[in-house]
Amino acid sequence: MAIAVEPGLTFAQSVQERSGVPISRCYFCQKCTAGCPVAFAMDYQPAQVLRLIQLGQEEAVLGSSAIWTCVGCEICGTRCPNEIRLAPMFDTLRYMALEKEYKPEPAVYWLHRSFLDSIRLWGRVHEMSMLAQYKLHNPLGADFAADMKVALYLFFKGKILHLPERIRGLAVIRRLYERAGHHRAAEVES
Ligand code: SF4
Ligand code: SF4
Repeated sequence: MAIAVEPGLTFAQSVQERSGVPISRCYFCQKCTAGCPVAFAMDYQPAQVLRLIQLGQEEAVLGSSAIWTCVGCEICGTRCPNEIRLAPMFDTLRYMALEKEYKPEPAVYWLHRSFLDSIRLWGRVHEMSMLAQYKLHNPLGADFAADMKVALYLFFKGKILHLPERIRGLAVIRRLYERAGHHRAAEVES
């Protein structure tokens, strides 16, 4: 199992090193939290996550739902007086959480995973199979009947391809996945 914290580094230093985000500059003004559109849905708000990292609270951070709730909109980065961008920091924390075998938030994890698996398989997203994978694995999304009306509407509008088609140059896409270590994420079960 890979370790989240590099030898010789504290948790905060490790997050800072891997994400490139200057976490130590944060002085808790909370402007990021005030502008975050999804802060209301987080167990720890964005500025609180920064503070927890500074305090070395690795378990609380990697086990939180906040790291899976961030949608990467970058609003916080534009508001922060210290040019701290939380989106890449949350990306790093999600990787670290998977490496440490923390359970991800299933709804978020399987949305990302279904999207990436579809591109790895076909070279682009095939909506029907992607949504089927997402629905099958996401315990919150198992209500197929509720979505059938929307799916049929999209189908008859021609928005959902009948059969998936592989793109030319798929090998290049797959090499990108190998380089990014996507196989590691594929081993995670939620
Ligand atoms: S806006 Fe910047 S300095 Fe203020 S709490 Fe957020 S990350 Fe820290
Ligand atoms: S990037 Fe994430 S933390 Fe920052 S404002 Fe957007 S959702 Fe909130």
